[in-house]
Amino acid sequence: MEKYWNLFFSSFTDYGGYLWREMLNPHWGNYFYWLIGLSLFFWLLEIAAPWRQHQARIRQDFWLDGFYMFFNFFLFSLIGFNAVSNIGVQAFNDFLALFGIQNLVAFEVQSWPVWAQLLTLFVVRDFIQWNVHRLLHRSDYLWKIHKVHHSVQQMGFAAHLRFHWGETVVYRTLEYIPLAMIGFGIQDFFLVHIFATSIGHFNHSNFRLPLGPLKYLFNNPQMHIWHHARHMPHRYGANFGISLSLWDYLFGTAYLPEDGRDIALGFEEVEQYPNSFLAQQWYPFREKNSGENTEADTDQPETFVEELNPELPLKQN
Ligand SMILES: [Zn+2]
Ligand SMILES: [Zn+2]
Repeated sequence: MEKYWNLFFSSFTDYGGYLWREMLNPHWGNYFYWLIGLSLFFWLLEIAAPWRQHQARIRQDFWLDGFYMFFNFFLFSLIGFNAVSNIGVQAFNDFLALFGIQNLVAFEVQSWPVWAQLLTLFVVRDFIQWNVHRLLHRSDYLWKIHKVHHSVQQMGFAAHLRFHWGETVVYRTLEYIPLAMIGFGIQDFFLVHIFATSIGHFNHSNFRLPLGPLKYLFNNPQMHIWHHARHMPHRYGANFGISLSLWDYLFGTAYLPEDGRDIALGFEEVEQYPNSFLAQQWYPFREKNSGENTEADTDQPETFVEELNPELPLKQN
């Protein structure tokens, strides 16, 4: 038991020390300054060439979402997730050891070149996250947590990291075992994280960049805005892609009926949703469970994508 306590406390001090060193020591492998640099980059793009020109440069909830960025990227780890997850991983490994299992590795990719390992991690993780994201919309309970992200009514880059801390727990927990099954030979996945963060900022930015055929591969603002549409044709939503739009096209959940520049965002009665950080964190635990991710009828046809999206290149089923 003492081992777990020591791990718990050292996790706080280790992560606190790490964050402090990052802040004092700008360098190319530094998450703290990359987050600031990427945010400034996309903010400048929004200012220089806004998609919605009438939208203020400092849009509604700009500072709230700015706080969410630092909270979710750094502070939540600092406050507790790092400690709790270290204990969870240790307990899980101890549990496996009871059965003589040293690790979960089922696929050895250590001998691959670094770029191939990074690419594998990026694609596999993105596919897992696409599935987790669908789950967040499917489950009435998880939807209450995910609703924080969908409470954005004016879209901009910083909305990317507006989400409830519960999402970090759900994503990290569900992706842990599948990723642990791949025996990566590298410890530092910095490039993957920065690349995914860049695309996430891009998806949410008030900036239009037609990607041509690459739109079937990478998520983009024109596609992701429909994920935030206040009125979806299907109760569980569409365009669940995180970094890659590919999965939505492959599995028939892509939805781009028209230019979504000025569509209403959020969900039914979003005006009543709390607009402070603490109230939003607390909301999922007190909101009554009423299956509230229903906006449209459930008897919508499952094949809504094919019916509504004339430019869909891949037919499902
Ligand atoms: Zn969503
Ligand atoms: Zn989003």
